[in-house]
Amino acid sequence: MMSTEVKLERRELGNTGLNVSCVGFGASPLGNAFGVVSEEEAIASVREALNLGINYFDTSPYYGGTLSEKVLGNALKVIGVPRNEFILSTKCGRYVEGFDFSAERVTRSIDESLARLKLDYVDILHCHDIEFGSLDQIVNETIPALQKLKEAGKIRFVGITGLPLGIFNYVLDRVPPGSVDVILSYCHYSINDSTLEHLLPYLKSKGVGIINASPLSMGLLTENGPPEWHPASPGLKSACQAAAAHCKEKGKNISKLALQYSLSNKEISSVLVGMNSARQVKENVAAALELTSVGKDEGAIGEIQTILEPVKNETWPSGRIYP
Ligand code: NAD
Repeated sequence: MMSTEVKLERRELGNTGLNVSCVGFGASPLGNAFGVVSEEEAIASVREALNLGINYFDTSPYYGGTLSEKVLGNALKVIGVPRNEFILSTKCGRYVEGFDFSAERVTRSIDESLARLKLDYVDILHCHDIEFGSLDQIVNETIPALQKLKEAGKIRFVGITGLPLGIFNYVLDRVPPGSVDVILSYCHYSINDSTLEHLLPYLKSKGVGIINASPLSMGLLTENGPPEWHPASPGLKSACQAAAAHCKEKGKNISKLALQYSLSNKEISSVLVGMNSARQVKENVAAALELTSVGKDEGAIGEIQTILEPVKNETWPSGRIYP
């Protein structure tokens, strides 16, 4: 079933032994996070992704109030892809009802996720947006509970996700080596905000795999612009809109340039892009292949960086206040 014509780069994910495609399929759009996606379009997107060499898929019970997990699980089942040909992460601790990182809740959560995904195990279980919980609970209760799920064979690896970069140092400095395998950072390795770069040497020293999500800054770096719920300031939104308009005027696509920018750092194993159509999957894989064969369009990226200079590295508050 798999096409052998197109080769999307795969990169090692920390010490996990997993080789993930450099472009990963972010499945929050399958929970309608960026507008309604039909079941047919969802299946077509997942099928196209697999055909073009994407082997890493990310979802969460939070996305669409469990819809994303159900739709992704169903798509993988309908397509009939062998289990050892894809790598899947889902999350625990964040739900539409609120946050709960207790051992009891996350232990129940994986069984619920596996049922929705129609799987026996997931490759990675991430604690979702830990800055909204107590980081000491994550260290002392949640991560130990996830080790038991590893032993039970329900998950292969453990990850943590969130926005403020300080959360990663806080947890990784306190847990036993090897108990957190992966971190997932978002909106911090995009053209407008590249602050994750400073943390890469530390993360590498800890041996964790690095996943960077939201290379398009959750829609800021697209011609259509971000969804209503986007937390960026009006200033950041309008600067990104100006950059997108500038690219369009020059006959360039800001999303392609933004994805290529994020992909060009090979210390990041996979860049998770939210995709809601087979067309977007094709465009994003083509952008990655063009990066390999031709390289980055430094001139156009430089022009975007100049427009975004006044808002460079601007972010937004998320969760409790941590260093
Ligand atoms: P993103 O930066 O990937 O942007 C997604 C938006 O860009 C969607 O509207 C999508 O339709 C659009 N898009 C994608 N390809 C495009 C193209 N070629 N041209 C024009 N528009 C295009 O943001 P995201 O979806 O939030 O992040 C990607 C994934 O990373 C998520 O789906 C999720 O799996 C993961 N993620 C995790 C966390 C977390 O754990 N806390 C946070 C953010 C994202």
